[in-house]
Amino acid sequence: MQGGGTVRYMAPVEHIDVRHGAVQSVTAGGHEYVASGHYISDLDPKLTVDLMHGAALSPVERHRLTDYEYSASAFNIYLGLDDRFHPANYGIGNWNIWYYPTGDLNQEYEQQLAGNLEHPWIFLSCPTLKSTAPGMAPAGHHVLEIATVCPYAPFKQLRETDPTAYKAKKREVYQAVMASVRDLIPDVDRYARMKVYGTPTTSEHYLGQPQGNIYGAKLVPQQVGLHRLGYQTELPNLFLVGASAGYPSVPGVISNGMDVVELLTGQAVRRSLALA
Ligand SMILES: Cc1cc2nc3c(=O)[nH]c(=O)nc-3n(C[C@H](O)[C@H](O)[C@H](O)COP(=O)(O)OP(=O)(O)OC[C@H]3O[C@@H](n4cnc5c(N)ncnc54)[C@H](O)[C@@H]3O)c2cc1C
Repeated sequence: MQGGGTVRYMAPVEHIDVRHGAVQSVTAGGHEYVASGHYISDLDPKLTVDLMHGAALSPVERHRLTDYEYSASAFNIYLGLDDRFHPANYGIGNWNIWYYPTGDLNQEYEQQLAGNLEHPWIFLSCPTLKSTAPGMAPAGHHVLEIATVCPYAPFKQLRETDPTAYKAKKREVYQAVMASVRDLIPDVDRYARMKVYGTPTTSEHYLGQPQGNIYGAKLVPQQVGLHRLGYQTELPNLFLVGASAGYPSVPGVISNGMDVVELLTGQAVRRSLALA
């Protein structure tokens, strides 16, 4: 990498060694890594603390970094469509669609977070229209991404106690969400060649998103503004950068990254286009 860094894939961090009031090293994929300067964690802050395996943090700091509420969790669907599907025929372009069947947003959120996923609202986007980067789908084919909010606890409970019932529930919710998709694309089933869907526990297991949260620490008054976790920790060489440290969303976390670079280097990375 430019600047001498290395990106290691398939190497989850297993341990963060904290002693003498600072991070000493990080172990990932069986290798120990010692930074000459700082450590930056993009992991969820609670998971970051878990990886310290009980290392000494002050009670106040431990409480601050582990005792916050997560944003809602989601049910996600990815569809791979064959080359007969033309997004423009359904008004789909390089933007996101938020579809609320009743138009009563508060009622729809309340109903779904209480566990009723009948005819849910959906977020729908077509990632293959947003980028020309290769690898998302074969040429001429499209992918659809669909998501909606749902509670975490019922999926967690079923997954731990009754795997058959968990799978049945997952299929049931998939069908419920697809009913809303068909409002927008009535013949979507004709084109769908690949269907991948996941519950909050799927996101927790594969992506490391605690409780399958979609937006990090919940954006409520007690957890935003001056109450947001922030990038600095009481360990002088450990910085946080993800959605819970600053703000969520793709632009949110890019901005968090730029903030942390500026904090560590003392140099401005935000320049106007005219100066770039
Ligand atoms: C279904 C869905 C759709 C969304 N759509 C949009 C959208 O259209 N626009 C938008 O702006 N935002 C969207 N968001 C929100 C956005 O994706 C998040 O806010 C953002 O990705 C958070 O970035 P992050 O770096 O904090 O966390 P992540 O993107 O979750 O990155 C954390 C990384 O840490 C890795 N990791 C986990 N454990 C370990 C470990 N032990 N060691 C090393 N690495 C580990 C994970 O694999 C992951 O790659 C969406 C979120 C979801 C769930």
